[in-house]
Amino acid sequence: MERILVLGGGIGGVEAAIALADKGFDVELVSDKDYLWIHPISIWIPTGEISPQECQLPLQLIAERNNFKFTSGKVKKIISKERKVLIETEKGEEEKTYDRLVVAIGGVKKSHKGLEHTLSICGGKEELLSLRERYEELIKRGGGTIAFGFGGHPQDPTGVRGGPVFEALFNIHYHLKGLGLRDKFRLVFFAPMPKPGKRLGEKNADKMFDFFKKIGVDYKVGVKIKEFQPDGILFEDGEKIESDLTIFTPAVDGHPLLKESDLPLNQAGFIKIDPFCVVEGSDYTVWAVGDCATIEGPEWRAKQGHLAEVMARIVGRNIDRISKGTTEGMESYLPHVHIVCLMDMGSWGGILFARTDKRILMIPLPKVGHWLKKLWGWYYKNSKLRKIPRIPGFDKP
Ligand SMILES: Cc1cc2nc3c(=O)[nH]c(=O)nc-3n(C[C@H](O)[C@H](O)[C@H](O)COP(=O)(O)OP(=O)(O)OC[C@H]3O[C@@H](n4cnc5c(N)ncnc54)[C@H](O)[C@@H]3O)c2cc1C
Repeated sequence: MERILVLGGGIGGVEAAIALADKGFDVELVSDKDYLWIHPISIWIPTGEISPQECQLPLQLIAERNNFKFTSGKVKKIISKERKVLIETEKGEEEKTYDRLVVAIGGVKKSHKGLEHTLSICGGKEELLSLRERYEELIKRGGGTIAFGFGGHPQDPTGVRGGPVFEALFNIHYHLKGLGLRDKFRLVFFAPMPKPGKRLGEKNADKMFDFFKKIGVDYKVGVKIKEFQPDGILFEDGEKIESDLTIFTPAVDGHPLLKESDLPLNQAGFIKIDPFCVVEGSDYTVWAVGDCATIEGPEWRAKQGHLAEVMARIVGRNIDRISKGTTEGMESYLPHVHIVCLMDMGSWGGILFARTDKRILMIPLPKVGHWLKKLWGWYYKNSKLRKIPRIPGFDKP
């Protein structure tokens, strides 16, 4: 039986390990954290609606329930020419070999001058707890200015994270309203691109700014950020937004460990793959899924969790074909490059956005949108632990 090593225990890596174990392969997943972090529901940590414990699932438990092996360790280097990976574990440095490798280590934040003066809604457990603390301090103080923004990536825009930033802004707006404190806070949005959110359609981006005006959110867009300072954001046109708390999410950049490895990378440091998710030039031995991989497709394409899962399941089936000695029927991820985003707006509800090459959908879901996202979180956790069956057709292909 082929031995498959999966690197990264996030949304893509876990799905790949499950798909491959379901096909009967001997699967080992290596990750630097011992839990799977469910990013889409972590947006509720700052307002205290959810605890960090509710956003995570122990990888050991997922592994036991899905018949694969979990190893806690930090990947240091991938040497694909020798079919080996160096990892650092509690016991020291280890070398792992494999028949096939699936890389799913996600990305990192693109660097910006003064980034240490900001906190990101996409930062993971520790950063979100700091964000909650800073937000609570402002509430205790009785008011202030909170600035929300996201950055671009000139070499690869697929990892620009607008959605969670809008979600953070709307959640905080409605949370403050609920506390009767909204008029004591200035909320301001900023982004360097002229039309942030345009990925969801030009008209929808315009509507977003109409909505900002309606709910009293100021904004500054289309001007590059010079640097972040302890008390605000300085722009290249010399203007400064003073803020007590800057919530900024840089675009996703290639993982630094890939620069130490021998896989082919694009200019932003993402792994070059073909439509079947095979790493270029690897002769079907190395595969990559999710945020660490290049994504081709329409100019509005985006790195998203649902796409990482689709890629992972495709990899499961494609590796199965290859191990049986055939390339017939190999599946491509390209027809599945869509945007699906249930943008949460806290107590107001949510808006469902979907974009394919044929159409753009925007469906406001007052109240129910918020509960649908919660329901998705419940389904995601319980189905990964095999406590409930997967809904046929829901998370296919
Ligand atoms: C706040 C937020 C909200 C989001 N909301 C949505 C949404 O509503 N819908 C949607 O579709 N997408 C959403 N996304 C995007 C989605 O979460 C990502 O696209 C998805 O997580 C990508 O999966 P991945 O497995 O490629 O990367 P990740 O989920 O980031 O997983 C990478 C894994 O690799 C591990 N790792 C990293 N470095 C190493 C190393 N050196 N050694 C070992 N392990 C390592 C990490 O610990 C992590 O477990 C959101 C993202 C964020 C941040």
